[in-house]
Amino acid sequence: MSESGPQHPRIGVFGGTFDPPHIGHLVSAIDVRDRLELDTVILMVANIPWQKAGSRRISAAEDRLDMVRAAVADVPGLVAGDHEIVAGGPSYTADTLAGLQREHPEAELFTVVGADAAAGLATWERFEEVVERSTVVVVDRPGAEADPAPLPGGAEWVRIEVPHLDVSSTDLRARIIEGRPLDYLIPPGTLRVIEERDLYRDGAAGVTS
Ligand code: ATP
Ligand code: MG
Repeated sequence: MSESGPQHPRIGVFGGTFDPPHIGHLVSAIDVRDRLELDTVILMVANIPWQKAGSRRISAAEDRLDMVRAAVADVPGLVAGDHEIVAGGPSYTADTLAGLQREHPEAELFTVVGADAAAGLATWERFEEVVERSTVVVVDRPGAEADPAPLPGGAEWVRIEVPHLDVSSTDLRARIIEGRPLDYLIPPGTLRVIEERDLYRDGAAGVTS
């Protein structure tokens, strides 16, 4: 860890659709940052989440980015990442990591995923590039095996235990449609964005993930 600091930043990349961001994302990101002594965890907002495209309507990338920005505004060490939105097209972590390496050549990168997403890691586009460019970090998620199957090529990964928060964006979209409470599940700043833009209430973003 002695190499940390501005010269050799340790950067976590926590990718997601964040439709909307919630306490499960934020507590995980904060605990990973703390445990691995990362300088920054980027909540990287997918432009077109290719594994979800077609199954339901995804909120506009700009709305999801602004919801994440609002969520992390007061949290040191967490930032919202617009790299994939700026790049456009479908979002592949391998490309995002390559871009970050160009931006921060001295950085050590960590790819953070929940245990459910970890189970599908081998299906990621150019997965071998992801493990070459970063250390894979898996956080617990209720309903998913804590330990993913061995990664292809026997790649190393790190497991970080986080509070088991059985919360998902899918459930939260349903809550919004049903008018049920969201306090403490979604940060207040994010709730304001949802209210101001009247997101989700028409049900168009659907309730299936
Ligand atoms: P959806 O229900 O729409 O799939 P989600 O809650 O799973 O939404 P995503 O944007 O799909 O959120 O997830 C982004 C990342 O956050 C994934 O790696 C996922 O595993 C992780 N994640 C989401 N919710 C939690 C949670 N409650 N605890 C730990 N990790 C989580
Ligand atoms: Mg998900």
